[in-house]
Amino acid sequence: MKSEIGIHQYMPDKVWKWKILEQTIAHVLYLHDYQEIRLSVLQDYNVINNGITALMQNDEAHITADSIINLSQPNGDLSPMTLRPEGTISVLHHTAKIIKDNEIYRFYYMGPMFRNEFKEGPSEFHQLGVELLGSDSTISENEIISLSIKICQNLGLKDVWLELNSFGCQECRAPFFEDMKTYLNSHKNEICQSCYNKLYTNPFALTECENPECKQVIEYGPTIADYLCPNCRKNFEKVKKVQANLAHQYKVNPKLFKNFAYYNETVFDLTIKQNGKEIVIGGGGRYDYLSRLITGKNIPAVGFYLNIDRIFEIMDQRELFIPLDKSFSVYISSQSEDLEMMMLQIAQELHENDIKTVLSAGKHSIEEDQALATKAGCELLLIIRDENVREGKILMRNMVREHQDYVGLTGILDAILLARKSLNRH
Ligand SMILES: [Zn+2]
Ligand SMILES: [Zn+2]
Repeated sequence: MKSEIGIHQYMPDKVWKWKILEQTIAHVLYLHDYQEIRLSVLQDYNVINNGITALMQNDEAHITADSIINLSQPNGDLSPMTLRPEGTISVLHHTAKIIKDNEIYRFYYMGPMFRNEFKEGPSEFHQLGVELLGSDSTISENEIISLSIKICQNLGLKDVWLELNSFGCQECRAPFFEDMKTYLNSHKNEICQSCYNKLYTNPFALTECENPECKQVIEYGPTIADYLCPNCRKNFEKVKKVQANLAHQYKVNPKLFKNFAYYNETVFDLTIKQNGKEIVIGGGGRYDYLSRLITGKNIPAVGFYLNIDRIFEIMDQRELFIPLDKSFSVYISSQSEDLEMMMLQIAQELHENDIKTVLSAGKHSIEEDQALATKAGCELLLIIRDENVREGKILMRNMVREHQDYVGLTGILDAILLARKSLNRH
């Protein structure tokens, strides 16, 4: 649930689902030898701002910079801080110190990110970021793409498909950019100022403009596919071939754009249909130039992100979260303050045997205790009363079988283990 100001509050009724989601993702990444990086939520504003706008032209850089939250510090001498708006820049910045040439690094990070949204103000969203550093081979592109699909499939989103495009290299981009500028100038009167500005500075930009005239102009404009050099073309063919052989559904989408200008060669989106709408739930691509700029080293890089909020919503709507088998638990109630210690001792013995307990937090009648035990979902109820303890026993009620009996003080654990077994619980 998002509050008015775009910040999440998850209560226990949602958190167990988040845990399933996070654990499934972490397990797939573990199987592929990706190591987790835990980034601070607070980051140096200048590092992030410089990194994110590095490969952008003026207008685009301004718009992007506005989306980064600036936490100015009271002491103006200190560098301002930001709440991380994404992870790639931070990962590159922090790992630049440990990265060695000719070595492969596989990293991931997951958690909340923060941006200023145009209308809503500061906003929180959850993202998974996966980065493979050190390889310029299409093998690593295929690894990253396949991994992103694998994670979606393991989460139960089996109908996800790929949209693929190539942004080419610096050589084949140059004439494409030139032709795009000429084309935009010759259609300047037909498209809105915003689309013109965005595409003029970055022909790969997502305009998100609904104006039909703009859409038409963009549709018939030049596409990078027609400009790819033999090497970029060959690499793109390899990626498509491997993805086809892996039976991953894909569409080549020459109009697949990205808001960040830092990608080169293969770019992709992970798309899914939900409620009749096509929704992008993640994507990525190669970002060699950005990596070089930030690390100061020649470290090729390819990665992807998943929009965890969107994935959570879709999984929830599709009822893909299945609660784990309910664990066995025992409700314990003591009928007088003198017996509190005994209650805690019994609980401790049960915990040592990995049995969950729920302790009564006040003095109740037996009927009230039964109602509380039912509400807590406990299979057994132990009631410790003075008169029983004096006779060396306590009352144990089996809530499932609706049956009760006295058990000797030395045989409580055994009686509970036996009851658990007879109920076939664990
Ligand atoms: Zn090229
Ligand atoms: Zn427009």
